[in-house]
Amino acid sequence: MNSKTVHIIGAGPAGLVAAINLSKNGYEVIVHEMKEDVGMRFNGDFQGIDNWSSKEDAQQFLESIGVDINFRLKPYTNGIYIDSFAKKYKVNTSRPLFYLVERGTNKWSLDQGLKRQAIDAGVDIKWNSRLTKTPEGKVIIGTGPKAADAIAKGIVFNTTHKNYYVGFLDNDIAPQAYAYLLVNNGKATFATCFFKSFSKTQECFERALKRLHEVVDIDIINPKEFGGYINFFFSKTLTKDNRIYYVGENAGFQDALWGFGMRYAMQSGYLAARSIIEDTSYENLCKTYIKPKMEASLINRWMFARLGNKGYTVILNELAKKKDIIPDLQKRYNMSGLKKMDTITYC
Ligand SMILES: Cc1cc2nc3c(=O)[nH]c(=O)nc-3n(C[C@H](O)[C@H](O)[C@H](O)COP(=O)(O)OP(=O)(O)OC[C@H]3O[C@@H](n4cnc5c(N)ncnc54)[C@H](O)[C@@H]3O)c2cc1C
Repeated sequence: MNSKTVHIIGAGPAGLVAAINLSKNGYEVIVHEMKEDVGMRFNGDFQGIDNWSSKEDAQQFLESIGVDINFRLKPYTNGIYIDSFAKKYKVNTSRPLFYLVERGTNKWSLDQGLKRQAIDAGVDIKWNSRLTKTPEGKVIIGTGPKAADAIAKGIVFNTTHKNYYVGFLDNDIAPQAYAYLLVNNGKATFATCFFKSFSKTQECFERALKRLHEVVDIDIINPKEFGGYINFFFSKTLTKDNRIYYVGENAGFQDALWGFGMRYAMQSGYLAARSIIEDTSYENLCKTYIKPKMEASLINRWMFARLGNKGYTVILNELAKKKDIIPDLQKRYNMSGLKKMDTITYC
């Protein structure tokens, strides 16, 4: 085996970003994906790459980690949020709040785009490959979540509605989380998320759908159900034996507040590649670029879980008065240790 061979287990965003960067830097990269294609954990549903957690725009971020935009990536600016009294709040943003991407096996999904880039860069992807033994040499493990800290249930469908998004904050339909509608070019995703009450998924989803029809005049054509889960934790073992690197959700990298894990996944894949290429410490890179945001997201989750429906209404009222909510969100996602403690005391 070539000393510049790296095996990557899991062809999710984390594994593929690592693969693209290593291959472009002269490494022989073999990706082992247990499914027959990328994106099979998803269902053509829309997700958002957050554009509030850092000053760098998400498009610049993608460029900085070696990712080309060869997939559906649509900016969504401003937005409508709805509280438990079905009251609408319009929020303003000076730049896109998030970039919509599609997940799954459709041609323009993020997953397929990253796959094309990996193959173009010379990566060898072994499909239906579930190894029973960890290979020799450098190995990156990006096999996704291990357990469910939060779950989502929803539908993907066709619609004649214009491009649009709306978020719902209401514990009766999305316990300690949120529900969302995303519409782009005739396709839509509506889902509700749960950080607790997993056994009430179906009834909450039905209530969420009812609420959607009450507040948005939308036609739902050919709906297909989907579901999924996310996992976040602080892992003590980001590397093993100086040759195995854990990336993405498998390493616990996730946004504990709302489950916006794609940026974490891709960034950690990039950092693992960088640590191999530059022979630097992956742990230190994660400590600098990922850990502070994860810590802030855990504090944010702790606070969000205590708000309740009345608290959501107060917050939405405040946000709706702002000319631009991005600076506030950025502050929340980039709190220093001291400020985090202040905020807890304040709450
Ligand atoms: C319903 C839902 C909605 C979401 N919405 C958003 C959102 O709006 N914004 C956001 O940023 N994030 C969102 N997320 C989270 C985001 O999808 C994940 O954080 C991200 O996909 C994690 O990437 P990953 O590469 O770590 O893992 P994954 O995307 O899970 O990829 C892991 C890959 O490894 C493969 N694999 C697993 N085990 C093995 C094995 N033993 N051998 C070989 N291959 C294996 C899997 O088949 C898969 O292809 C959402 C998640 C869900 C479920």
